[in-house]
Amino acid sequence: MTDRPAGVTLLGATGSIGRSTLRVVARHPDRFRIVALTAARRAESLDELARDVEPDFVVLAHGRPEEFDPEWTGEWRYGSDELAAAAAGVEAGIVVNALVGFAGLKSTLSALQSGRRLALANKESLVAGGELVLEAWRSGGGELVPVDSEHSAIHQCLVGRPTEEVSKLVLTASGGPFRSLPADQFQFIRPEDALAHPTWSMGDKITVDSATLANKALEVIEAHLLFGVPYDRIDVVVHPPSIVHSFVEFRDGSTIAQMGHPSMEIPILYALAAPERLPNEFRSFDPIADGPLEFEPVREVEFPMFGLGVAAGRAGGTQPAVYNAANEVAVRAFLDHELSFGGIAAVVETVLTEMDPRPVGSLADVEAADLEARARARETARCVS
Ligand code: NAD
Ligand code: MG
Repeated sequence: MTDRPAGVTLLGATGSIGRSTLRVVARHPDRFRIVALTAARRAESLDELARDVEPDFVVLAHGRPEEFDPEWTGEWRYGSDELAAAAAGVEAGIVVNALVGFAGLKSTLSALQSGRRLALANKESLVAGGELVLEAWRSGGGELVPVDSEHSAIHQCLVGRPTEEVSKLVLTASGGPFRSLPADQFQFIRPEDALAHPTWSMGDKITVDSATLANKALEVIEAHLLFGVPYDRIDVVVHPPSIVHSFVEFRDGSTIAQMGHPSMEIPILYALAAPERLPNEFRSFDPIADGPLEFEPVREVEFPMFGLGVAAGRAGGTQPAVYNAANEVAVRAFLDHELSFGGIAAVVETVLTEMDPRPVGSLADVEAADLEARARARETARCVS
């Protein structure tokens, strides 16, 4: 037990993971203290959170001081450069990266380079940054603890055992709202249908990614990078109740799973306190009441975003960043009613085919691939409906 609560810098405080993190921290004031809160544009929400939590400072990444008159009189910082600076701040023992998309990459690198514990929800930064993130983790001496429920499960099942002992990682997927939708109905999917997730309540981008299964492809890449297991030893199985969060199959024939009700507060608490287990008020898994636990295969033909993403991961270099960027643009266009549900995969496939994988030597290489993929995706989305 430490005497002083650990400082927590919370990037993306106004989002779904951000708010869950605030609830978790509020239950353990003796262990954690919020040092900084950040938001993209929602100054009023950030102001309200700051009044409640009293951090050392807040960052509004995409807003200017003259646009808003805050009630909270503490320190306000402005601009996206302040996010990565906050991730390296001296009081930040733990950085929770709950930003969404590629915008979180610099903060992920900054937290790891400065030796912090990074509780990582922002999987896109790991997927796009790939080796760069792993290098920052190695050289900075920080810790990377996943918040994503599947990776938290694997982390807990592995408990530090080496990769050679693992024969397979099996990630579970809820299957999303269109798990059993007949193929001929996909053309009628509207944004509001995709946003109605059956088991998890999350931000819009990841909810659409869960509906296309792009989220599961991002998670396969995330698992490969985090745990150093080759792609042909990572499987995905659909598990609609979202109780079993993932499995690790060991070479001796034992399979270990982690289970719990679908609440992100459990993996968030674990990422903050690991390997310690702090008290939590959640009801645990009840084998009689919560069974039976069903599993089924992924419908790869109906959900092409899954195979495209895993192929991009296998191709390596800049391809995962290209897949991620094209997906971010296509999802935005879908949510804005400018692209059909099926159009998301069409756009991403076109951009991946147009751009050859390039090696990644620096952040500039990834940023260039991200920018080019976005431009191509916007152009393609205009032609595809
Ligand atoms: P969200 O959209 O609800 O929240 C995103 C947060 O990031 C907000 O605070 C927003 O202000 C901020 N933000 C967004 N774009 C930004 C930008 N360009 N610059 C600065 N700040 C920006 O998203 P979420 O659902 O909380 O997801 C956050 C991350 O966690 C994503 O990477 C997602 O894949 C991952 N994740 C989420 C869940 C979940 O249950 N929500 C589960 C697993 C993983
Ligand atoms: Mg997940």
